[in-house]
Amino acid sequence: MEGSSRGSSAVVALQNYKLGKNIGMGSFSRVKLAEHLLTGHKVAIKIQCRHAVKSKGMEEKVIREIKILRLLRHPHIVRMYEAIETHSNIYIVTEHVASGELFDYIVERGRLQEDEARRFFQQIISGVEYCHRNMVVHRDLKPENLLLDSKRNIKISDFGLSNVMRDGYFLKTSCGSPNYAAPEIISEKLYAGPEVDVWSCGVILYALLCGSLPFFDENTPNLYKTIKRGEYTLPSHLSALPEDLIRKMLVVDPMKRITIGQIREHEWFKIRLPRYLAVPPPHTSQQAKKIDEGILLQVTKMGFNRDQLIESLHNRIQNEATVSYYLLFDNRFHDTTAGYLGGGFQETMSRAHPREIMTEVLKALRDLNVSWKNIGNYNIKCLYLPRRANDQGIVETEGAGTTAVKFEMQLYKSLEEKYLLDLMRVSGPQLQFLDLCADLLVQLRVV
Ligand code: ADP
Ligand code: MG
Repeated sequence: MEGSSRGSSAVVALQNYKLGKNIGMGSFSRVKLAEHLLTGHKVAIKIQCRHAVKSKGMEEKVIREIKILRLLRHPHIVRMYEAIETHSNIYIVTEHVASGELFDYIVERGRLQEDEARRFFQQIISGVEYCHRNMVVHRDLKPENLLLDSKRNIKISDFGLSNVMRDGYFLKTSCGSPNYAAPEIISEKLYAGPEVDVWSCGVILYALLCGSLPFFDENTPNLYKTIKRGEYTLPSHLSALPEDLIRKMLVVDPMKRITIGQIREHEWFKIRLPRYLAVPPPHTSQQAKKIDEGILLQVTKMGFNRDQLIESLHNRIQNEATVSYYLLFDNRFHDTTAGYLGGGFQETMSRAHPREIMTEVLKALRDLNVSWKNIGNYNIKCLYLPRRANDQGIVETEGAGTTAVKFEMQLYKSLEEKYLLDLMRVSGPQLQFLDLCADLLVQLRVV
C-alpha cells in the first residue's frame, strides 16, 4: 500500500481514537495504546497488516478472533470493543491490560506461593468455564496469553486459535504451543474441545506452583513423546491438594481427565473462592439483555439515539454508540467484576448513597414478586408470594395465602461507607423465607 492512502484511510477509520505508544509485538501484529476520544478511556489497539495476514494464510485466524472476542464479556477475559477494517489493516480495539504477561511475572519471581497461585488459577478457570459455556474453546492457553491488569487480575487474551465449538462436531485442527498442548492434539486425534483447555490449565497450574514446566525438552520429538505418555515429575514441596488436582488434570486420556465442573468441586479450588466467581457464569445472550439505564442516558447525552442504541445493544451490533456504551459501562466502577454479573453491585453497596441502595433493593424485590410498605426510614414491611413455573415455563403466581411469607427489612449504616441489609421473618414457612433470601442475594449480585 502506498504511504499516503494507507495513512488517510487509517486516520478515518480510527477517527474516534488518539493513538499512543507501542505496547506489544505479536507474531504479525503490533499493539498500541490509544484513547477513545468520546469517553476518554484507554484502550489497546492491535494492528494487523492485511497483506501479511493474507500471505500467511492467517486471515481466518484473525476473523475468528474478532468473532469470538466480540461475544465474550467476563472479568477475566480481555474485552473487545470493536474491529475496524481498512483495505490495508485490521484494527482490533480491546480493553487495555496494564501489567504485562503472566509469563514474565512467573519468570521474574519463580514459583508462586500457593495462595497467589490459587487466586490466578481460580480466575483462569472461571474465564475458561465461561468460554466453554459459550461454546468457545481457547486452545492456546499459556502464560504468554494471560495478561495481568493493574490489580494483578488475569485477563485471558489471544483467541486467534480458538474455535467455536459445535455440538456433534469435533475440532480437527492441530495448533497451540507444544509445551502446553494436550496429548490428543499432538497425536492429531479428533478431539472435542474443552478437555484440551483443561490440560493446558493443568500445565499452567504446574508452572505457577513449581516455576517450571512439566513437559520440557529442546528436542521436539522427545517433548512430544513425554507429553503423549504423560510423563512428568512433581516436586516434593507441593502440598497434597494441589498435587492431587494437577494429577487429575494431566491425564492422557481426555475421557478420564477431570472436567471444569469437577475442578470447581475440588477442595483446593474452593479455598478462598471469591463470591463473584462462586456462581456459574452467565451466558452471553443473558448478558446482552441487561441494559444499564444510567449509562444509556450518558450515551444519549453524547448525541446518540436512545432507541437505536437499545436495539443495537440487544442485537450486539458494533457502532460508535455501543462502543461508547461498553467503554463507559466497563470503566464504571474500576472493578474487574463490574458488568459481569450485571453491574458490580458490591461496589455500589460500598459507595452509593443509601437511597440508591434502597432503589436497587426494591427493584430486586419487585422482580421477585415481593410487595412492600414503608414503615420508617429505610425500613419496609414485605409480603412475598412465591411463584412457580407452569408447563410452558411461564412463571405464574400461586394463589395467595398458604405459602405467603411476611418479613421486615431494614437498611443500616455500618462502618465507614458500608451498609447492612437486615431481613427478619415475621410469618410464613422458614425454608421459603431462606429461599427468598438466597434469590434476593443473587438478584442483588452479592453472591
Ligand atoms: P499475537 O496474536 O500476534 O501473538 P497478541 O494478541 O498476543 O498478538 O499481542 C502481542 C502482545 O501485545 C502481547 O503478548 C501483549 O504483551 C501485548 N498486548 C496484547 N493485547 C494487549 C492488551 N489488550 N493490553 C495490553 N497489552 C496487550
Ligand atoms: Mg500472543
